Amino acid sequence: MDGRVVVVGAGLAGARTVEALRTGGYAGPVALIGTETERPYERPPLSKGYLQGSDERDAAFVHAPAWYAEHDVDLRTGTTVTALDLAAGEVLDATGVRTPFTHVVLATGSEPRRLHVPGAHLDGIAYLRTLPDSDRLRAALTAGRRVVVVGGGWIGLEVAAAARAAGCEVAVLVRDVLPLLAVLGPELAALFADLHREHGVDLRTRAEVAEILPAADGAHVGAVALTDGTRLPADLVVVGIGASPRTALAESAGLRVDDGVVVDAHLRASDPRVLAVGDIARAAHPFLGTHVRVEHWATALHQPETAAATILGRDEPYDRLPYFFTDQYDLGMEMVGHVTRGGYDEVVVRGDLAARELVAFWRRDGRVVGGMNVNVWDVVDDVQALVRSRAVVDRDRLADPDVPLASLVADA
Ligand code: NAP
Repeated sequence: MDGRVVVVGAGLAGARTVEALRTGGYAGPVALIGTETERPYERPPLSKGYLQGSDERDAAFVHAPAWYAEHDVDLRTGTTVTALDLAAGEVLDATGVRTPFTHVVLATGSEPRRLHVPGAHLDGIAYLRTLPDSDRLRAALTAGRRVVVVGGGWIGLEVAAAARAAGCEVAVLVRDVLPLLAVLGPELAALFADLHREHGVDLRTRAEVAEILPAADGAHVGAVALTDGTRLPADLVVVGIGASPRTALAESAGLRVDDGVVVDAHLRASDPRVLAVGDIARAAHPFLGTHVRVEHWATALHQPETAAATILGRDEPYDRLPYFFTDQYDLGMEMVGHVTRGGYDEVVVRGDLAARELVAFWRRDGRVVGGMNVNVWDVVDDVQALVRSRAVVDRDRLADPDVPLASLVADA
């Protein structure tokens, strides 16, 4: 096949795109260009195994260093793409180099949202997005340090668990009435609040940061002041208040952007030479019947197969259900499906909520739209099948662990 593919963004989604192109038989030139100086790596270990000290740093990398040359991939780390020139069919980088393309795959990921309060510039305020961020945080989590985590999302809670494991004193500030409330709803959000409190976290809800106060040296963080007047002493503040998709390149190129680069089910943007994968892609989803943008590892892992197939001229729409997982203390959880705030009528629990061994199902009009297994394993395929079946399921049978999930699909 003639052509040249330029992949912009050298994270997991970018690395998997070049891999899928080569596996799929694409023999043309491929460039993979990213701002970070590390070769592509996965992010889950950064807030889980690597941060906790159980995983080796090397385990985070997607490929061995030699893989890129061996597969004739022109990997350009430490290189920022500054423009996508659709008229010329070139990408432009910060050093002025223009690289021609027949297809561009945008895989630029997301940017951590910044905390804008007085004192937010002080030393000792950390964000967690990159491997070097994780290196620094890992070194900073030492026994007895007072850590204040701002934000009760996935980063906040995983960091809190790692910090407790390291023997830190930890406070988590959640601005809502429960952490993860928007994603899980009240029933399961309470499980995570209890989990952290039982592990000694001072989890504060309806808590908003007013200001970060300096220590006596005037340079380093000393305390976090809340809007209700509380002052929490702090040696380290970790901010995890969400992320924004990096869509500037797409926007300035005139592509359709609406909270993400809008792409079809084949991951083609409004100019079909451009594709988007991972955090930034707001993709038409055939099964869900709507566009969805998913900021999770599994999407970055799998969408590239579709992008490569599209470039290779194959008709393979991306139709996987959103999936993510977390590990916190002794709790492991996986969630599959598409649950939105207000997008369900009830949550049905199969198992033991108090013992945190369960499968929870989000139901709408009697159908399962999402499921989460907590410390219960090997059920994801069954939960997916249940969601995909759109079967109206009996509430009691759904809650009964003695009724095989597969039989609920068969009943439909
Ligand atoms: P997140 O999961 O979206 O959670 C952000 C949390 O911060 C939300 O609870 C949000 O509350 C809160 N928040 C927003 N603005 C705030 C503010 N100004 N002050 C206090 N709280 C504020 O984002 P994240 O934890 O920062 O993680 C970043 C990205 O990495 C996300 O895309 C996440 O999905 C991904 N990630 C995933 C995993 C996993 O899959 N296990 C692990 C780590 C990171 P509201 O809901 O009230 O806005």
